[in-house]
Amino acid sequence: MAEVILNEEELQERLKYWQEKLRLQDWIVEVQISRGKDMMEDTCACVDYTLSKKMASVKILDPIDYPDDVMGERDMENDLVHELLHLHFAPINEHFNDDNEIYSTFEEQAVESIAYI
Ligand SMILES: [Zn+2]
Repeated sequence: MAEVILNEEELQERLKYWQEKLRLQDWIVEVQISRGKDMMEDTCACVDYTLSKKMASVKILDPIDYPDDVMGERDMENDLVHELLHLHFAPINEHFNDDNEIYSTFEEQAVESIAYI
């Protein structure tokens, strides 16, 4: 896997592409590059969403803040696809009230498998 580092503009373009490809056009999604201090520790990307409004906000970690011990090479496009895929699971996630650990693990595994290029 080759490292993929995108700037803000490329990221917006990739968002448009993947939103269509993954059939998520009914969502309003924004994406931004975020510094480590604005994100949960040890995450390279995250998504927050409001299912009832189908609005989502994706944050991708600024490469400046990649930890030294990061496993493998980072791919910001893959991170974006990963977070977008979570939106397809949003209704199930909500059904489990967001705090079923077993469900969350399975969701994460499924997303990892599908997003893996
Ligand atoms: Zn995930």
